Amino acid sequence: MLNLIIFGPPGAGKGTQAKMIADKLHLYHLSSGELLRQSAKNPEYNQEINSYLDFGKLVPDELIIKLIAKDLETHFNNGGVVFDGYPRTLFQAKSLDNLFTDRGINPATVINLELEDKVAIERVMSRAENSNRSDDRLEIVSERFKIYHELTEPLLQYYKSKNRLITIDGRLNIETVNKNIEQKLKNHK
Ligand code: AMP
Repeated sequence: MLNLIIFGPPGAGKGTQAKMIADKLHLYHLSSGELLRQSAKNPEYNQEINSYLDFGKLVPDELIIKLIAKDLETHFNNGGVVFDGYPRTLFQAKSLDNLFTDRGINPATVINLELEDKVAIERVMSRAENSNRSDDRLEIVSERFKIYHELTEPLLQYYKSKNRLITIDGRLNIETVNKNIEQKLKNHK
């Protein structure tokens, strides 16, 4: 069973690549941002979730871990999963590893789409023109990058130390990035 985490800053192309890989390898694509936007339609969660999303803040670990676990209950048996936007904190990463090891499954391999801030911010801002996402405004985008560097990027060291990290040049075009991911996945271990 293959489980993957697509990692990288906002604008790195995580969603696009996760979808392509999931389609090709018949894996389940789990986008935590999408899961949250869907869950926010539920009145039970609406206010709480939006109070973070609208400001580019991470929702609390406890909440996202609960939503992810619930979503996986229905999808775990269908084969592997491509995680997109999850995990984003060390606590989430360890919780996800436990979820796999508790079930006797190898923990997920991480594909890091490397991209410098300048290019990533430009991409997010041009996407914003066609997006109705509440968090694609410049001040919120800056907050999302700040949080990425503070809380999420340090996970790379965690995964590297466990020899589960694959690094990809995220500046290249969509098809090339996709080919490079496939190639590196084949060579990994
Ligand atoms: P994304 O679509 O991945 O850019 O996520 C959009 C927003 O959802 C983020 O800015 C956070 O507010 C929230 N979010 C997504 N994934 C997570 C996560 N793993 N942990 C906490 N908050 C998250």
